[in-house]
Amino acid sequence: MGSSDEKNAVDVIKLNPVSYVAAVEMSTVSFERMRLENRSAVLNVIRKYGPLSRTEIVGRTGLTLTAVSKIVSELQRSGLICDAGAANPNGGRKARLLRINSAARVAVGVNVGYSRICTVLTDLDGRILARHACVNRGLGSPQGVLDYVADTVHGLLAENGVSRDKIIAVGVGIPGLVDTRRGISVFSPNLNWHQVPVGEYLESRLGLPVIVDNDVRAATLGERWHGAGKGLRTLVGLFVGTGIGAGLVIDGKLHYGATESAGEIGHTVVVPGGPICSCGNRGCLEAVASGRAIADRAKVAVAAGAPGGEELLQIAGGRLENLTAEHVALAARQGNVLGRQLMEETGRFLGIGVSILCNVINPEAVVLGGGVSRSSDLFLGAVQDALETHTLEGRGRGVKVLVSQLGADAGPVGAATLVLQKMFSAEGLAQEAAGQG
Ligand SMILES: [Zn+2]
Repeated sequence: MGSSDEKNAVDVIKLNPVSYVAAVEMSTVSFERMRLENRSAVLNVIRKYGPLSRTEIVGRTGLTLTAVSKIVSELQRSGLICDAGAANPNGGRKARLLRINSAARVAVGVNVGYSRICTVLTDLDGRILARHACVNRGLGSPQGVLDYVADTVHGLLAENGVSRDKIIAVGVGIPGLVDTRRGISVFSPNLNWHQVPVGEYLESRLGLPVIVDNDVRAATLGERWHGAGKGLRTLVGLFVGTGIGAGLVIDGKLHYGATESAGEIGHTVVVPGGPICSCGNRGCLEAVASGRAIADRAKVAVAAGAPGGEELLQIAGGRLENLTAEHVALAARQGNVLGRQLMEETGRFLGIGVSILCNVINPEAVVLGGGVSRSSDLFLGAVQDALETHTLEGRGRGVKVLVSQLGADAGPVGAATLVLQKMFSAEGLAQEAAGQG
């Protein structure tokens, strides 16, 4: 494609001197683009594999030593990378190592969940510098929630003495469908949000750039950069909490799909005609295996007088309406027969979801996250059995089922990682350069 474009450009030059100018501008643009792509490539190999020497960067990027040395000098001047000592202090020529200067900038990550809002500040390595969490109740309308988020971000930055010029941007993860280009929460069944202009509103309140994405996609990116999925090229993050969603990483990149709704596995029907779901359909995976659904199934079983029900009710403090998924997990751990049965059933349902994803994506691993994954020891076996039964030739057997390493921080750290991903890209580096100039 590139060569035919060049040919077209040459034809245009012959025909029209005005277009000649355009062609020269275009080649300047593509040269600038290439320069930024190369800077991004160097920065990303240092991020992933650093500390590295200049020669090692050459080996990993395929750029010449001259090009690498020039880019390294530029990146050192901008403060994004720094010296990490000598490669081989005990002999030979002492090549200098380079690493990301993690303290150079700060990313803000916000996860707006149904039950909790969590905000973090991270450095360039995704390490949490400060954290704030609160219960998402009584905040009222979407505006009430977003005002609260803006106040929290202002507060965290002030408390930690972070100067504005150090902040790259604010990443926000929201459940449900998100228009990432316009920063809009299109539809969030769990939050009951429709067409909320999250990005625009927060940018006006904070005076900072805001990146908005689906919460599960952000959390999957977080696990891939800083958690259980580190270094994997093809990966599924399945997050089971109030809702259920999957983030897909294919060939090293987050997959969005044609209308940015890829990964909505929670709304795949696994029990036709089953319980009603937050989306309005019946028998969705989310309606039988989410935290809320586990509690609902438990209530039905207890009310129907299932064996072990009385004991489970006692663990929940004797009140059926207070029974939660945590009580079910706790009961299962104590050997309660109903608790164990409910958790295994949850594993079978989740196993169907996981095997669908594995049949379609063929990932190296599935990372289980979200609140329910804290009890994954109680249902991991059932998930693995389902993977074996429901994948072609039992191919799912080779898929590693991992548990989230970031845990409750996956959402906010993932949202901050959206910011880091942008900053380490050619586009982000162009904005960075414009900001400094
Ligand atoms: Zn649904």
